This record gives sequence, C-alpha cells and structure tokens, in this order.
Amino acid sequence: MTAALAALDAIERRPLAHLPTPLEPLARLSAALEGPQILVKRDDCTGLGLGGNKTRKLEFLMADAQAQRADTVITTGGVQSNHVRQTAAAAARLGLACELVLTRVVPWGGADYELSGNIQLDRLFGARIHLHDGDTNRTAAMEALGESLQRAGRTPYLIPTGGSNAIGALGYAAAAAELAGQARERNVKIAAVVHASSSGGTQAGLSAGFAALDPAVRVIGIDVDAHPAAVAAEVRRLAAEVWTRLALPGDFPADKVILEAGYAGEAYGLPTAEMKTAVQRTAQLEGLLLDPVYSGKAMAGLFGLIEAGAFRPDDTVVFLHTGGTPALFPYREALED
Ligand SMILES: *Cc1c(COP(=O)(O)O)cnc(C)c1O
Repeated sequence: MTAALAALDAIERRPLAHLPTPLEPLARLSAALEGPQILVKRDDCTGLGLGGNKTRKLEFLMADAQAQRADTVITTGGVQSNHVRQTAAAAARLGLACELVLTRVVPWGGADYELSGNIQLDRLFGARIHLHDGDTNRTAAMEALGESLQRAGRTPYLIPTGGSNAIGALGYAAAAAELAGQARERNVKIAAVVHASSSGGTQAGLSAGFAALDPAVRVIGIDVDAHPAAVAAEVRRLAAEVWTRLALPGDFPADKVILEAGYAGEAYGLPTAEMKTAVQRTAQLEGLLLDPVYSGKAMAGLFGLIEAGAFRPDDTVVFLHTGGTPALFPYREALED
C-alpha cells in the first residue's frame, strides 16, 4: 500500500473481489463527446455475484463480522438493491446466514421489479427476505430483527444501507490507492473521478484516499438520491471518520467533497430521459452496460459536466463504474424506445 495509506494494511480484510479491477479507455465515447480522454474503472467487474462497488466495502465489513464471531448478517436496502445482493453473495461464500430488510422505497412496480434482477439473486443466494413499506425506518427494523434472532441464539452483525459506515468506506480508500497505482504505472495524470453517489461510502473513501494520496484529483459524486445536501453531508461525515481511522494528519479537508445535483430526476430509482440516453449511447458506442438507477445517471452527469466545460480536452477523466447492471432487467420498460 502507498505510504500515505499505510494504516490500511493493518486493518483486517476478507478477500472477496477480483482486484485490481480493469482500467480501460472509452475511445469511441471520448471521441463522440469531443471531450476529455475518458477511462472506465470497472468496479462492475469485482466478480462476486455479478459484481459492483459494494464488494470492496464488504471485504472490510465481513472481516469485522467474522472478528465478532457473527453467524448471521443483516442488511437493508430497496427491493432492487445491489448492495443487498452482493451482501447475500458474500454471506453465502463465507457460510453465514443472511437476513434482508427490503423496503419499497421506489414508486416503481410490476412483476419484473418485484421478482427479477437483484431480488431474484438474493433468493438464489439463500438469503431470507423481509419486505417492508417504503416509509419503514430501516435501522429500527434491522435492530428489531437482530434482537429476535439473538433471542433465538444467533449472533447477528448489522450492516447499514449501502454498507456505508466508516468500516465499509475503507474499501474505497483502498480503491483510491489501487487507481492511483494504475495511473502511475501508465503514466497518466487523472484530473477527476466521476461516479454515482448515494449512501456516501464510495465517495467518502475515494475523497479521503485521494486527499491523502494525490489531492490534485477531483472526486466528483453525481447525486442519484435527489437529496444532494443530505448525501454531501453524509460523505463529509464518513470521510472524516475514514481520515481518523487511517491516522492521517490533521482533519479531512471537507472542501474536497464535490457533489453534483441535477441528474437524479424526481427521485431515487425513477428513470430520467438523460439516463436512458446515457445508457443507450454507452452500450452502442462501447458495448458497455450501465444501469438505470446509478451508473446511467452518473454517466448522464459526466455528459453534462463535459458539456458545461468542466474539463479540458487533454484531461483524463475516470468514470468509476459502480455496477448495478442486474437492474437492467427489472427496468426493461424504462429502457425501451
Ligand atoms: C450503492 C451503489 C452506488 C452508490 O454508492 P454509495 O457508496 O452508496 O454512495 C453507486 N452505484 C451502484 C451500482 C450502487 O449499487
């Protein structure tokens, strides 16, 4: 590990992901946009149960669960949560039971949404699903479930939405070091890393990691929650915690947190026209699949930033592909012409 993040080496980690993930040029898309050189960091290819960004967080979270001798993990998310699916896969791989508190937060329904994609895979991994209304307090529901499992003699370990606490976010501090190393090897200077931001752990880890390793790299989160102020506040809070855990000097520079609003549409999980264009264009120019909830809106955000002149044509910008492609199937109708 790079010297600035040496403290990461001492933190327990359970290998689950295929690392390093590839860093690839998007030559045809870059040319079509007449923009900066765009590279894609393929965290959709982390390998576990169809991959995605949560697997890096789970390497640290599952190590902690095992250190605490948990026999069951409980986590939470929406019906089509990628985090929940990757947690169910990690639990299966490690021989832990998995209990999922799923809340109907997205006003989107139908048989595809309720039965295919991520939720289909949750079941396949053997997780037990508890479906709740959209307004359910997830933390309270997980705690109540945890207490009932404890009474039955089990030892549960609770993982918050998106795996976003300071332990999970360490996965993206480690990812910053991985990406900085790939850039160094290829002799490229990264101007910015652009990605979808929601529960905040990804951006928090990346922001803390790059602030320590290479402060010239701008980490730009694209809000997909339609609550940008809350997401930015959570990113700053988690990044400060990561900073402390990694024993970095002084305080996390909070002004490093850049969150772009305006690409989420009406609400989390609801399709937008810009998302659909971004998903189609990326598929047709690069053979690369994005998803309707996160990476499609993030790519729409990158298109918007390029159009607004946020980068120079000779800049190198990394699009962090955070995964989510299993949601292409439940959102079939949103992507039809
Ligand atoms: C969870 C998720 C994100 C957002 O990451 P956070 O750490 O929750 O901000 C982005 N993309 C995909 C595909 C995700 O599943």
